[in-house]
Amino acid sequence: MIVGWNQEEMNNVFNISLLPGDGIGKEISVEALKILEWFSENTDLKINVKEELVGGISVDEYDSPLTNDTLKNISHSDAILLGAVGGPKWESLDFKKRPERGLLKIRKELDLFANFRPAIVFDALAESSTLKTEIIKNLDILIIRELTSGIYFGEPRGIEQIDEENKRGFNTLAYTTEEVKRIAKVGFETAKARSKKICSVDKANVLESTELWREVVTEVSKDYPDVELSHMYVDNASMQLVRNPKQFDVIVTTNMFGDILSDCASMLTGSLGMLPSASIGTKTENKCNAMYEPVHGSAPDIAGKGIANPLAMILSVAMMFKYSFLKPEYFDLINKVVNKILNDGYRTKDICMEKNKLISTQDMGDLVVEELNNEKI
Ligand code: NAD
Repeated sequence: MIVGWNQEEMNNVFNISLLPGDGIGKEISVEALKILEWFSENTDLKINVKEELVGGISVDEYDSPLTNDTLKNISHSDAILLGAVGGPKWESLDFKKRPERGLLKIRKELDLFANFRPAIVFDALAESSTLKTEIIKNLDILIIRELTSGIYFGEPRGIEQIDEENKRGFNTLAYTTEEVKRIAKVGFETAKARSKKICSVDKANVLESTELWREVVTEVSKDYPDVELSHMYVDNASMQLVRNPKQFDVIVTTNMFGDILSDCASMLTGSLGMLPSASIGTKTENKCNAMYEPVHGSAPDIAGKGIANPLAMILSVAMMFKYSFLKPEYFDLINKVVNKILNDGYRTKDICMEKNKLISTQDMGDLVVEELNNEKI
């Protein structure tokens, strides 16, 4: 059974902070919990889960999207699993109190600078994409997005009154050599272990900050002679992603470009509800360096209806097993089980076609558990 914290220093004992957040975040977290519980009961892993508040629900309770206490608690865990934050209820709040600020604060405070966003097309879903099957079948690309700098964090920022009628909104896009160097290294190391091909996406023709980005990435590439580096402007990259996505393997890019390109890549896979992610920082003693979350948001339009797809969240758990707990076999197991369920024709509404069997969020979580029970470990 998954209970509260277990501070014992034991092999394979992991303390996870679960932050369901808002909207469908709560629904998909219930399903992820079933999977964590299954692994805790049926494998060598012992998983302790402690729930914490983040986002709008934390604003309602504590008048802050992320309290210092919560930040302290989660920073002592082995990994964080987050649902999603935000919703119309909190949209008119002062910027500093908005739910999304809680999420950005976790990324920044824990220095989770490398965001891995895989876009993998499960065979059974090749037809669910709005693109032709032959364009996306067997697609397996990885977008590595810089997560703690760039325009989402740059100063100065704000909205100022410039005369009686006009205001001016402004943000700052800035990168230092060190910030680019460390994400580029992650990109090259990852590419080295895959197809040895990396594409760096920037807008170096008009933005000086990304001119520096290109310069530094090129410099880092000298340490990786076996990895083929290409550069692409972001406007072209967005076009190429839908024209011929299989030309890419690993993409490394800035915070905002990665945000936009990965949503675009999600539609290649059939639904935003299928895309997991991992945000990783440098490993230091006594500080959590990994957060796992679906790429999608809190989907207020479908919250509470029992129709959200929990697979992005469940696949985020799989990424946690691979990256944080060094259990690639459990990553493979979850992916195998999801593949089987999709091949058997079971679908939540977002990926359901006429010939498929429509099931609810809860049914999908139960099916994953059922299929895990059918696997020999
Ligand atoms: P969204 O990702 O929540 O939803 C976009 C569309 O995809 C919606 O039609 C939604 O129903 C659908 N969708 C998303 N996830 C789904 C799932 N698992 N199953 C089925 N359908 C799914 O993006 P949005 O509508 O632009 O934003 C809604 C709220 O979420 C906003 O407050 C936004 O700020 C927030 N947001 C949070 C995160 C995060 O927590 N990481 C990310 C993006 C947006």
